[in-house]
Amino acid sequence: MCLKKLGAVTMSKIDQVIAAINEITKADDEELEELLEDFIAPDETINAINEYEKKVAKRLRAQKKRFADGIKDYIGKDDDSSIKDIFNYVKQDLFAADEFSEELSIDTQDILELTVGQIAGIVMDDIDEEVVFEELSGRTIIWIEQWSEELGNLMQLHSHEAIEKEFTRAIEAGDGIDTVINNIKDLPQFDRQRARTTAITEILTAHSVAQYEGFLQSPAVKKKKWKHSGTKAIEPRENHMDMDGQEVEVEEQFALVGADGGTYYCDYPRDTTLPAGERIKCHCTMGPVVDPDIIKLTPEEKEQIRQEVLAGLS
Ligand SMILES: [Zn+2]
Repeated sequence: MCLKKLGAVTMSKIDQVIAAINEITKADDEELEELLEDFIAPDETINAINEYEKKVAKRLRAQKKRFADGIKDYIGKDDDSSIKDIFNYVKQDLFAADEFSEELSIDTQDILELTVGQIAGIVMDDIDEEVVFEELSGRTIIWIEQWSEELGNLMQLHSHEAIEKEFTRAIEAGDGIDTVINNIKDLPQFDRQRARTTAITEILTAHSVAQYEGFLQSPAVKKKKWKHSGTKAIEPRENHMDMDGQEVEVEEQFALVGADGGTYYCDYPRDTTLPAGERIKCHCTMGPVVDPDIIKLTPEEKEQIRQEVLAGLS
């Protein structure tokens, strides 16, 4: 955004806030560009992260407001209610009425479908210009639906747990409801940083899904290769660095030794089957291992192979 200077008029407070936010976003994007150095379609990925972050932040703000307003309304009707009564009301009524998970699921499904399709197209074009991306496989569409719903539920659960914790703390400490409302407003579960972390993790997951989809639909891709990246801007984790260069057949799974010592099987970096700790802040990516003999086949022969793969993934 460009800030216009209106003669001698100084920047209003709102403009100052907007300028500050833009500064932060700019710095974040530069850091992301560095992290996504080895990624295909970095610009599309960063745009999707920013767009999704705004949506998640908006849903979190609305959720926080519903809780703060809901509690205030309840006290307004009966100001003799004890903090335990209010806690019961929050658990029984406000938790049940919370629309966050449903709203976030819809936003997530929209952006995942768009992003996975867009990046799969770029991935396939990069491998072989003669095999053009047309549609997502049935398997990927189902995964997007299921994961969007699960993510909404998980995030909602975490927010509710944080609110419960605050009430339990206040009851033990003997704090009043005003303190509880203020502390709920300050919970990290509702803040912009959570929106940012969620957006980065989920859009980079969409990036992995898009690569997997693109590799599966590209007849020339025989294997996928794990790439560790972004050692500059982050503390690299040793178990992910150990994955660097590992190759497996496209439909086979990578074996990742977790930070907890367990072995986890995954189709790609940040696979949602991995523990959260192995997904969040992971900036690994993949590369295709291409069979040059298949690139030389005719477009018709390649299209036939692709159609057979798609039929198997429906
Ligand atoms: Zn990683």
